Amino acid sequence: MAAKKTINQGVEWNYSPALESTSHVKLKSKYDLYIDGKWVKPQSKKYFKTINPANEDVLAEVAHANEKDVDLAVKAARKAYRNVWSKMAPSERAKYIYRIARLMQERARELAVIESLDAGKVIRESRDVDVPLACNHFFYYAGWADKLEYAFPNRKVEALGVAGQIIPWNFPLLMAAWKIAPALAAGNTVVLKPAETTPLTALKLAEIIHDAGLPSGVVNIVTGYGDTGASIVNHPDVDKIAFTGSTGVGKIIQKAIAGTHKKSTLELGGKSANIIMDDAPIDQAVEGIVNGIFFNQGHVCCAGSRLFVQEGVAEKVIEKLKHRMDSLIVGDPLDKNTDIGAINSKDQLDIINGYVKIGNAEGAEMYQPKCKLPKSGFYCPPTLFMDVAQSSRLVQEEIFGPVLTIQTFRTVDEVLQKANNTPFGLAAGIWTDKGSRIFNLTTKLRAGVIWANTYNKFDPTSPFGGYKESGFGREGGLQGLGAYLKMN
Ligand code: ADP
Repeated sequence: MAAKKTINQGVEWNYSPALESTSHVKLKSKYDLYIDGKWVKPQSKKYFKTINPANEDVLAEVAHANEKDVDLAVKAARKAYRNVWSKMAPSERAKYIYRIARLMQERARELAVIESLDAGKVIRESRDVDVPLACNHFFYYAGWADKLEYAFPNRKVEALGVAGQIIPWNFPLLMAAWKIAPALAAGNTVVLKPAETTPLTALKLAEIIHDAGLPSGVVNIVTGYGDTGASIVNHPDVDKIAFTGSTGVGKIIQKAIAGTHKKSTLELGGKSANIIMDDAPIDQAVEGIVNGIFFNQGHVCCAGSRLFVQEGVAEKVIEKLKHRMDSLIVGDPLDKNTDIGAINSKDQLDIINGYVKIGNAEGAEMYQPKCKLPKSGFYCPPTLFMDVAQSSRLVQEEIFGPVLTIQTFRTVDEVLQKANNTPFGLAAGIWTDKGSRIFNLTTKLRAGVIWANTYNKFDPTSPFGGYKESGFGREGGLQGLGAYLKMN
């Protein structure tokens, strides 16, 4: 099997496959729930299959927790909070968090391969981005665990108690780290539910947490579908809900906890603008556009999915972008040549294809490079839509796939108006040579994170979160720690 690519002007490039080995990966055929430091059979007696979206092979069966299972997990978390974790010296808690980070590093290769198998993401990204960043979150928050009084000077801080955490399928291990690390550092205990299509790295993390000797019940991992998530949200003894996922489910959660004592942070959808001014370094900007929308198959809540190019450079940028897209390799996520891996699920592929149909029906000009897609599995070529109206559903709605819309603009005021004309407000990117333009635009764009002359850069020290329908609360940095504390 050769990863083959034809680039434009008739020049063909052939790359030999460079497959990451899976022989070192240890997966059980069936996973129970990790509750109170033990693997527990689900009271529901139900299991579901998790598959590899790159070839539709079944990877494992995973427990589907019901209300009773969630109740058991919350009770274990409450007991651990009351009897152990809240009484432990913060410096001791820090050591456990640090130990988890070290063990994750030791098993980084296995975690990266499992992430690619279960999520469809390319091995280069899970190996170089997801797993190292996940480890770094544990390292970073381990450092704060015994310094809370310095993190928030002159405030009396206290843990919230039991945190219910629900995460999505696009960055499964990284999202688990974003949620668990600050919660533990602030002195909370945790019940976490991974997404139904990507439960495996969270279950591996449960093994690591177990090996780290974390006291029983401090972290509980319950797998399942939306109903399992809803059981966590509705459980009366949960003190905080931390959710990352769709805006639709975010709204359901907000309604469900309205009027209760539960605190919440919601990180929801996005439709982020990536803005190229006419004085931008064009080649770097084109790389930034590619990274902004095609990283992780576009399954990124802050993806730069709306491209705005200033008229004077639009033709050049689009030509270079098409050229660059022609060289992207779509295929096996485990092949180190691959740039765009598998779409996470059949359902998600159907959603993306539905938007491609809408774009074509609306008469927008579409561009997809000619590339051979694997015969089995779920794949979508990188896709551009030009001549799209601001009112188009492609511009207004989150597609969560490798589909980019392109609009042009003449003035800064015009692009600000268009970029802010969305219900979302998660991220934005600006490409320009002038610092003054960067400051001007960053103060006026309504987005939680704004990158200048780069895109999709993350760091544990830097808070991340949205405005408007992209949610509220921040993860990462001190803000992410504060979200798990009562402050007086
Ligand atoms: P996506 O569109 O990315 O699949 P979802 O919001 O549907 O996003 O899913 C994100 C997470 O929320 C998943 O773990 C999913 O199981 C969970 N979930 C789905 N519905 C609910 C719900 N009603 N209450 C709580 N969690 C839910």
